[in-house]
Amino acid sequence: MNLLSKVNEIVEERRDSFIALSNRIWEYAETKFEEHQSAEVICKLLEQEGFRVQRNVAGIRTAFTASYGSGNPIIGLLGEFDALPGLSQREAAAYYEPIIEGGNGHGCGHNLLGVAPLAAVIAIKQIMKEQGLSGTIRYFGCPAEEGGSGKTFMVRDGAFKDVDCALTWHPASYSSVFSCSTLANYQVYFSFKGKASHASSSPHLGRSALDAVELMNVGVNYLREHIIPEARIHYAITNPGGASANVVQGEAEVQYLIRAPQINEVKAIYERVLKIAQGAALMTETEMIVTFDKGCSNFVPNHALGMVLNQHLQAVGLPAYEEAEHRFAMSMGETITKLDREAAVNEISKLTGQQPKRIVKKLGRFPFFSDVFSFVESNQLIYFSTDVGDVSWVVPTAQFFGASFVAGTQLHSWQLVSQGKTSIAHKGMLQAAKVLALAALDLLLNPDIVEQAKEELQEVTEGIYQSPIPLHIKPSAVK
Ligand SMILES: [Zn+2]
Repeated sequence: MNLLSKVNEIVEERRDSFIALSNRIWEYAETKFEEHQSAEVICKLLEQEGFRVQRNVAGIRTAFTASYGSGNPIIGLLGEFDALPGLSQREAAAYYEPIIEGGNGHGCGHNLLGVAPLAAVIAIKQIMKEQGLSGTIRYFGCPAEEGGSGKTFMVRDGAFKDVDCALTWHPASYSSVFSCSTLANYQVYFSFKGKASHASSSPHLGRSALDAVELMNVGVNYLREHIIPEARIHYAITNPGGASANVVQGEAEVQYLIRAPQINEVKAIYERVLKIAQGAALMTETEMIVTFDKGCSNFVPNHALGMVLNQHLQAVGLPAYEEAEHRFAMSMGETITKLDREAAVNEISKLTGQQPKRIVKKLGRFPFFSDVFSFVESNQLIYFSTDVGDVSWVVPTAQFFGASFVAGTQLHSWQLVSQGKTSIAHKGMLQAAKVLALAALDLLLNPDIVEQAKEELQEVTEGIYQSPIPLHIKPSAVK
């Protein structure tokens, strides 16, 4: 029996339990650093399976590793399981309807993302045992990908120092190896302290912290014209200083998320944003306090590993859908705009080097893409960030997008939450598990690929990596 049939058999045999686990994590919908139940169900299962589980990695209660086997190579599979705030949504509904108003939801499909590598390590373990393979397979339980950069803290703490290669995936509406770079970022809070007072009887005695936040935002909006076009600056007012117009706001806070292709570019823009914040404090006679929250590096794709993933992604292929799934997908597809679909096509075009027109043709039986896209070596940039970036700077890393949703479904949308518990998503997750298992087995069996991947990383980074997070900064979970 070849490995593909073997992996297929093991994963399919246990498909119901993997699906049930993914659904449970979807229901827990726990956000950054609070994924206690989600992390625990995965830890428990891996313990039962005979993996050596280490909890509390990097001092984060929801970060863990689970290893099987011994010696080198050590192949890491990265799993995430955090949800997003404000994205509560009823399952399998082709209309917007939150289950809990303002509640959390799995808007990035991490309920699937975390279970596929889990299913993969279980399959790998069984095959390692049966075939007496040496080496180590390790599941990395990585919390707070959304807004917390859990992996960046884990990397800074040395959690990946003995790992030879790392593999992961991300659910998407199409299948292709992720061969582009991503944006590095910093997340920083600026809080202002002024003096509260009666807005009408004694406005001259007040010093408004909210004015400082507004002036800072205006200043940064003027800065936008004078930064590199690839950079992004986002903000959210995290404390407006109260809900009363009749009180001069004594306290206010704004969160900034600054992104650019390289971490040194992020840092340079941050220094300028900092000057604007200081200027706002000066103008309003308020005190300004900076709190660095987190940062992450850009992703360095490893092409040697990308080739391995691509080979298995092609071999495993796309899920086959039933008629009922097509019907549901058609109604969901009606809520997805032409622009959403174009955004997906443009992304695929960057990953594959193919003209968008050719990709549109692959929308065979709309609303699914009818092909696994072949990737090309690329130095293109995709405009989002991932903390897989920091892992990729210290360990050769490859990841792929696995078709799990209707074509054009955007990440962080209610449509994605709605689909996260459907058989369409489950099929994508199980295909991804098989690809990850086969690729990891390939690495265990072929040490020369591991060496090649390491050489490539050394060449690209010259062995230089500096954590974007200063040493004294702790993850917000342990503050
Ligand atoms: Zn995600």
